[in-house]
Amino acid sequence: MSGLKSIKKPAVKRTQLFINNEWVNAVGGKTFESINPATEDVICSVQEGGKADVDLAVSAARLAMKRNSPWRTMAPAERGLLLMKMADIIERDIEYIASLEVVDNGKPFTSAVGDIRAGIKCLTYYGGYCDKIEGKTLAMENGKMGYTRYEPVGVVGAITPWNFPFMLSCFKLAHVLGAGNSIVLKPPEQTPLTSLLLGDIAIEAGIPAGVINIITGFGPTAGAAISEHPDINKVTFTGSTEVGHLIQKASGDTNLKRVTLELGGKSALIVGKSADLSMVVPLAQDACYVNMGQTCCALTRTYVHEDIYDEFVKQSAELAKKTRAKVGDPFADDIRYGPQVDKIQFEKILDFIDSGKKEGAKLECGGGRLTEKGYFVEPTVFSNVKDDMRIAKEEIFGPVQQIMKFSNIEEAIDRANDSEYGLAAAVFTNDLSEALYVSNSLESGQVWVNSFMSGGANTPFGGYKKSGIGREFGWDGLLPYMEIKTVVIKM
Ligand code: ADP
Repeated sequence: MSGLKSIKKPAVKRTQLFINNEWVNAVGGKTFESINPATEDVICSVQEGGKADVDLAVSAARLAMKRNSPWRTMAPAERGLLLMKMADIIERDIEYIASLEVVDNGKPFTSAVGDIRAGIKCLTYYGGYCDKIEGKTLAMENGKMGYTRYEPVGVVGAITPWNFPFMLSCFKLAHVLGAGNSIVLKPPEQTPLTSLLLGDIAIEAGIPAGVINIITGFGPTAGAAISEHPDINKVTFTGSTEVGHLIQKASGDTNLKRVTLELGGKSALIVGKSADLSMVVPLAQDACYVNMGQTCCALTRTYVHEDIYDEFVKQSAELAKKTRAKVGDPFADDIRYGPQVDKIQFEKILDFIDSGKKEGAKLECGGGRLTEKGYFVEPTVFSNVKDDMRIAKEEIFGPVQQIMKFSNIEEAIDRANDSEYGLAAAVFTNDLSEALYVSNSLESGQVWVNSFMSGGANTPFGGYKKSGIGREFGWDGLLPYMEIKTVVIKM
């Protein structure tokens, strides 16, 4: 596609913690293994950070935020250039980073490249924002002058998940550093390897010591130490709704740190009767199977108008059967989907499929393990799915499409909104009024019309309801990483 070449056995360069621009072992002396999900082989052991390591990282990050530190006194344009320099280094090393992501996460090489490019764009976008963050001059009575300043919120703890490891770490860095903060990043324990590369990239770009710190480790230990830390001013988290609750609670129990939460979803897609099946069948399936279904905003509840339902189901099942041949070795050229990230997710998905069958949904195709080795799941399609079935309510995070029937658009909207989540939704239709009416009516942070996952670094993203708090991207995404200070001067 891009002329880029994958490296089948990329060397693992970093497995230690990154604190204050130095590579160090964990205080507790423990390590954990990272597994290649395509082969089930151990890739390497990584340092297991805990509370003591988070404390050290927070101290370094605090020092970096001190009022006369190099980071705080740097011209905003200079800060922006550093972010762009990181982006350039990532682009230079993209074949290596993408290859390591494939080994650690299992996603196909072309997908890894696409993710990393999204990370690069976000770093560049917020790099460009640094010298455009401007306060206001306030209206005041004679003899007074007032203005606002946007100041960094301070030390930000960032906790990221395994589905888009490097990209999400770049997204967090871009927001946090773009607004002038320092960061303690905790990458996911399932896929820690590529995020660690950001330490070397930071040093090469010239980021001052302490601004970026990376602690690999587990959620209930290293992650909780971040969300409970009294010296962390904000936590930005992407992951499950369950852990989102814990982070919000830890904030309330400690120092009321600010939180941005990007959580789970069970996003609805409404396919209107005027939709062109040749276009929407592949689009709907891709929107569900994207990243092997391991995507918080995947469109996993497919509501199809009764007039086209049977044909939609038939074509979806035929397509999924063909897609089977496109699941395999993530380094192979013609592969679209790799394995699930680990054994736990793999078994969870098979359990969901089992529950779908037991609760009376019709398994049109797939439903099982694809290979003896590796966590590959067959592309699966269920029809006759009812809204109260587990597969229709809970996040499966696998390549399992659930197709439901509706008879009128009001009913479809009500059913789409009848969810505790509200991250994304979509409507596929050739009727413009229907597109506008449905998108205005859906309770969701983003609505896509005749597309999915459209957007970029300038497009606010986040959830209604239990899908999260706050937005990322664009100005709306940067604002929660800053405090607004009002200064009033009596003349
Ligand atoms: P998933 O279920 O998709 O693995 P999680 O929400 O469990 O998603 O994990 C996302 C991130 O949150 C990971 O980096 C994980 O280590 C971290 N995490 C898990 N539990 C906690 C916790 N109790 N406190 C803070 N972070 C956590």
